Amino acid sequence: MTRTDHPAGAGTVPRPEVLISGASIAGPALAFWLNRHGYAVTVVEKASTLRGGGYPVDVRGTALEVVRRMGILPRLRDAHIDLRRLTFLEGDGAEVASLHPHHVTGGVTGRDLEVRRGDLADALYAAVRDDVEFVFGDSVAALDQSGHGVDVTFRGGGRRTFAMVFGADGLHSATRETLFGPEERFHHYLGHCFAVFTLPNTFGLSHETVMWNAPGRAAALYAVGDDGDVHAFLNFAHPEPPSDAFRDPEAQRDLLASVFADAGWEVPGLLAALGDADDLFFDAVGQIRMPRWSSGRAALVGDAAYAPSFLTGQGTSLALVGAYMLAGSLARQDHATGFAAYEHGTRAFVTLNQALVGKGGATLFPATPRALAERNDRLRRLTALPSAEQRPAHSALTLPDFTPGT
Ligand SMILES: Cc1cc2nc3c(=O)[nH]c(=O)nc-3n(C[C@H](O)[C@H](O)[C@H](O)COP(=O)(O)OP(=O)(O)OC[C@H]3O[C@@H](n4cnc5c(N)ncnc54)[C@H](O)[C@@H]3O)c2cc1C
Repeated sequence: MTRTDHPAGAGTVPRPEVLISGASIAGPALAFWLNRHGYAVTVVEKASTLRGGGYPVDVRGTALEVVRRMGILPRLRDAHIDLRRLTFLEGDGAEVASLHPHHVTGGVTGRDLEVRRGDLADALYAAVRDDVEFVFGDSVAALDQSGHGVDVTFRGGGRRTFAMVFGADGLHSATRETLFGPEERFHHYLGHCFAVFTLPNTFGLSHETVMWNAPGRAAALYAVGDDGDVHAFLNFAHPEPPSDAFRDPEAQRDLLASVFADAGWEVPGLLAALGDADDLFFDAVGQIRMPRWSSGRAALVGDAAYAPSFLTGQGTSLALVGAYMLAGSLARQDHATGFAAYEHGTRAFVTLNQALVGKGGATLFPATPRALAERNDRLRRLTALPSAEQRPAHSALTLPDFTPGT
């Protein structure tokens, strides 16, 4: 646990103490900017350490300017994965098309970044850890806003009062549940489930992704570097969320085995490797959509408030931009005005990026034989075209300058 109490322009006035729940992307980014704007920040993370985890995430458009202003852009450029090829396969394993990933994602070569999620979390943490108090292995048990601040009871038994509390605790945010009610009210299931896990790279893949499709099913291998492992990814259409499987890894393995039972290509080997994987992550593909992102002295940021799903590739960028906007909006005003300004300045950007989901779904996971055939035709034609244009949604917000004195 570390924090240096330097005043950051607040003179002798004590810095208001605020709490952030979650130390992945949105949490440390928000901590960085709140510290800059004169708050004394504590971050509580339920995991016992900063979570690693190597699946690739994207930093694009407006979010690039956020990381530039944080001073971590050069470090992230060094960590850039530089996936060079995305190859699509037919159900029998025959190649449909092999192209640069930006043809599909709308990314901009030489500018947009793709980094391991753990590398981004490390860079954000390194940028704040000397100025912010981090508490690992604990979480919020109860929030009480009936007094002049937010009285917080921690699961570890501690009690403290904060001027504000922020939920940066992801798609299944406990903060959101406490403030606004059950996840079902805000989670929009997109009709798919997915599983990711790592396995040894015995496929000879390097800096590339290979994706196998059958109608309503997909399997992919991501080789993000040369470190000997690949990320396996299985996605399948399922009319209702398989609620029984979410908390039961054995049920998840059984469901995946039955859905992919007759699949071709390398899928039988992937299912066999699933039995040995100790990092299986299984979830529904969905978005969080909320009419409001704050309640009293508490607000949500990142996936907790507006997860767009990996089909957009914009979850990380929304988390970074949202953190910048939330902290900046609180820089010179009370919490109610600041939270209103955060929503006013950020919601249109979020909505535009969440709307990218249709494009992602149609390209990556066609649900019917006809949709798959049309997608494959499109991909074959794409290889003959120059790289796709950047998606306007990625840069649809121009960051305000919240620097003190401006
Ligand atoms: C398989 C996969 C692939 C993805 N691919 C992409 C991609 O290609 N591009 C992209 O941009 N995005 C991608 N994403 C999405 C991206 O990971 C998220 O949008 C992004 O990490 C959001 O960051 P966050 O900080 O809001 O939430 P999260 O990263 O989910 O972090 C939440 C943090 O809160 C902690 N926490 C949870 N509950 C509590 C609690 N009660 N108390 C304290 N701490 C708690 C968690 O341990 C975690 O550290 C992908 C996600 C997945 C799962």
